[in-house]
Amino acid sequence: MPSTKARYPLDIARDVDPDGAEGFILNLIFGWRFVDDLVHVRGYDTLAELRKSARFDVIRCSCVSCLERK
Ligand SMILES: [Zn+2]
Repeated sequence: MPSTKARYPLDIARDVDPDGAEGFILNLIFGWRFVDDLVHVRGYDTLAELRKSARFDVIRCSCVSCLERK
């Protein structure tokens, strides 16, 4: 089952914004969300942390907001 799970196509230039002097904000593209909460944006202290999270914590989303903005 995990092998067939869709993986978020992370694009640092498109999806990541700096969060002040240090830290990063990951803005998921529409159709994706974080697995443990119905949110599409999350902040991280390091880029390594962000990359790992994008790989393991992001799943497909079909919430109203995503559907409307597709
Ligand atoms: Zn959504």
